[in-house]
Amino acid sequence: MEQSVKINSKINVKPSRFGKKYYIKTFGCQMNEHDSERISGMFELDGMKKAESEDNADILFVNTCTIRENADDKLYGTLGQLKKWKSQADNRKLLVGGCAAQKDKELVRNKAPWVDVVIGTHNLTNIINLLNQSEDWGPVTEIIDKIENLPTDAPSIRESEFAAWLTIQIGCNNSCTFCIVPSVRGPEISRRPVDIINEAKQLVSEGVKEITLLGQNVNSYGRDLKIENKSRPYFRQLLEQLNDIKDLERIRFTSPHPKDFKEETIYAVKDLDKVCKQIHVPLQSGSSSILSKMHRGYNKERFLEKVDMIKSILPDVSLTTDIIVGFPGETDDDFEDTMDVVRYAEFDSVYMFKFSPRPGTVAHKMNEEFVPKEIIDNRFDTLKTTQTDISERKLKRFVGTEQVLLIEKISKKNNQIYSGKINSGQITHIGKENLKLGDLVKVKIIDSTPFFLKAELV
Ligand code: SAM
Ligand code: SF4
Repeated sequence: MEQSVKINSKINVKPSRFGKKYYIKTFGCQMNEHDSERISGMFELDGMKKAESEDNADILFVNTCTIRENADDKLYGTLGQLKKWKSQADNRKLLVGGCAAQKDKELVRNKAPWVDVVIGTHNLTNIINLLNQSEDWGPVTEIIDKIENLPTDAPSIRESEFAAWLTIQIGCNNSCTFCIVPSVRGPEISRRPVDIINEAKQLVSEGVKEITLLGQNVNSYGRDLKIENKSRPYFRQLLEQLNDIKDLERIRFTSPHPKDFKEETIYAVKDLDKVCKQIHVPLQSGSSSILSKMHRGYNKERFLEKVDMIKSILPDVSLTTDIIVGFPGETDDDFEDTMDVVRYAEFDSVYMFKFSPRPGTVAHKMNEEFVPKEIIDNRFDTLKTTQTDISERKLKRFVGTEQVLLIEKISKKNNQIYSGKINSGQITHIGKENLKLGDLVKVKIIDSTPFFLKAELV
């Protein structure tokens, strides 16, 4: 569905590409999806309109990911295919940005010289400028190591008119030994509360009802701002201020880090009526020795204590997590510890990953302890089978209950069905009759499938 969105931006772009069409291919996480929304916003400020696919686009932006090895492999395969895309019409422009561009720097340019613009993660707001330069002077690469402006000033064109991402913090100060994020996204920088609140109010004035706060470790939000001269987190206070925004209906956040999860945050989730009862606590491994090698800052017992604390304060909470299978040196006993936590915590869903060595990380150098692929595959299947049963059972608990559903989009598979989320985050389908996009309605859950719920109006 084509959106008309009012763009309020401090970015100074004079529209010069009226009639041109753009398309963005996004790989990776919510941060990348949100960056792509901003790139769309800047392209539209420049006069372009979104194409339905890359086939009828003049400008193609590939927003890359590098969190796992197969993301890198995919990128270079994709860039090979896109050489053909460029040659199929005159004056097509190919732009590559995101984490892989930031990490690989000149490599993208050397491996794919047909790319017109290579841009890193820290200078997205310069995209139109670089596109202009490439038209005047030929291919350009701009990767900067230090962030100058928070890219949050850029306008956004969102996929949904009613649910929006809101970045509260960029980068990460942790040093998990498997993770490439700190080196491609830089150190942790919190946005000022007033800027976040203003952006939230702006989103609400455009019709947004649900906001998801984004950061790599939202629990430590604000520590670097030294508000009232104190170097302490300001996340609970930020939730309180957002909760007071008139006409904002729902607030979600991702990701908190288990080591910094405080009781006060869980009470904020409980007590603030707009904060959804859904918490993502990334476990990574259930084995204390692997957690220590991962440099996560908690052990199995501490993690279980956090789960108990969350469930005792919020008995109906929806809990989700991330797990990496096959970290270097992971034994059968270590993996059994992970399975133990999975069975105990009964997560609503788990994002599962096979360990992928990322050059430049500490874990990449643990090559003597790499776990053989067949063992990783078997463990992954075991985890998947167990968790699928748990997830299905957990979804069934909603059948027969009344919930509030935000109608977000038309189902891709059936245009007579709307799809949205209930408060605790579960995807829910409902017939279109008597409803419209953006409605927040009371529904009864009438059935569950392995992946979503079915509802009817109450
Ligand atoms: N900041 C979040 C946290 O601390 O949990 C994680 C963000 S990261 C973008 C998303 C997930 O990717 C991680 O939680 C982890 O499970 C997974 N991941 C990161 N690096 C990985 C690697 N080298 N191999 C496999 N999975 C990885
Ligand atoms: Fe990566 Fe750890 Fe930072 Fe998450 S907290 S982004 S896993 S370094």
